[in-house]
Amino acid sequence: MAFRGVDYLLIDSQLSPQELLVRQTARRFVDERVLPLMRDCFRDARFPRELIPEIGELGFLGANLHGYGCAGMSNVEYGLVMQEVERADSGLRSFISVQGALVMYPILEYGSEEQKLRWLPLLQSGKAIGCFGLTEPDFGSNPAGMRTRAEKDGPEWILNGEKTWITNGTVADVAIVWARTGEGVRGFLVEKGTPGFTTSDIHGKWSMRASVTSSLSFADCRVPADGMLPCAKGLKGPLACLSQARYGIGWGVLGSAMDCYQTARSYTILRKQFDDKPIASHQLVQAKLADMITEITKAQLLALHCGRLKDAGKLEPAHISMLKRNNVAIALDCARTGRDLLGANGITDEYPIMRHLCNLETVKTYEGTDHIHALVIGERVTGIAAYK
Ligand SMILES: Cc1cc2nc3c(=O)[nH]c(=O)nc-3n(C[C@H](O)[C@H](O)[C@H](O)COP(=O)(O)OP(=O)(O)OC[C@H]3O[C@@H](n4cnc5c(N)ncnc54)[C@H](O)[C@@H]3O)c2cc1C
Repeated sequence: MAFRGVDYLLIDSQLSPQELLVRQTARRFVDERVLPLMRDCFRDARFPRELIPEIGELGFLGANLHGYGCAGMSNVEYGLVMQEVERADSGLRSFISVQGALVMYPILEYGSEEQKLRWLPLLQSGKAIGCFGLTEPDFGSNPAGMRTRAEKDGPEWILNGEKTWITNGTVADVAIVWARTGEGVRGFLVEKGTPGFTTSDIHGKWSMRASVTSSLSFADCRVPADGMLPCAKGLKGPLACLSQARYGIGWGVLGSAMDCYQTARSYTILRKQFDDKPIASHQLVQAKLADMITEITKAQLLALHCGRLKDAGKLEPAHISMLKRNNVAIALDCARTGRDLLGANGITDEYPIMRHLCNLETVKTYEGTDHIHALVIGERVTGIAAYK
């Protein structure tokens, strides 16, 4: 059945006809092309790669970037796309986030004209896939400690080190790799097949099973001088990319939360217990549904306001921390509550809630954990950094 949206507070009235059209396009694509695949993809731990050309044609890759074939959507339109995609599965949304915010964005912001002309049209259309290597086995929340190094050797850079938990790693044609150099952290474009660059997949995940997650290894891997992003200097380069991705996550998880809410609402109206009465007629069940719709509505307002701020050039990283942290937390709560309301049926993949719940555990951790975003907000309101 087509998804009709979750809009308790008439928030749609705040969206322009163009924004509604973009959302409707994404919604139809998700209902018709994505949802029929997702349960089996998750079950089989398979990334639905066959969807990439269509996702590219719809303009969803690097959707809010401008030029070089990108769709040039507003940030609210882009957020609505992410919401619809994550309504199907956080893994597919992760693919789109990485490709747009963590690969195309740094090339557009920090790349040379040659790098932009070579890679952006390929990445936008989905003819090439990218990945973003920042996390290392010993440095997750604190990427400043990274050990991966790049040494200059004549006209080349030699990379040595390890990256792990990298979305799209083994399927990527190009990796954006962040490494320590004599002049601070710099970003490198490392192409698939470069000698000394190897990848392997991480197996045994109970979360993000429809997404590829990999480790990258660099052993005397030689990258030509023009493979370095010329305008990214220091850790603020990768951190700015993460801000772009976190913004999209803040919208995306609303999709998971809405799907959990709708599934639980429909189920509790149909399911009967005690005197043949729907379980939705019990006060305790209604209180849970009331909590879910209230938190979703507050999170929708937060996302929309952040989107309007971003379109006005006023959204700051500390704002994005609140958006990401809050919206992931409420989505997880909705998934847990929804699972509970479905009773035993809630643990099967006949319903999407348990899959969302498993995926959201990753979304809580990646792109800055809940704790780290609490510390960003704490620093903003006290002026005191408490990370160490
Ligand atoms: C499926 C998946 C996909 C991913 N994709 C990518 C990707 O594409 N590219 C990439 O670079 N990375 C990726 N990551 C990695 C992700 O960004 C890291 O897992 C994340 O940054 C957390 O790092 P960690 O796992 O090492 O946890 P840790 O940093 O070890 O943290 C463990 C716990 O300690 C807490 N903690 C740590 N420091 C503090 C502190 N100062 N104060 C309070 N609490 C603290 C954390 O909040 C967390 O609860 C991915 C991860 C997953 C699971």
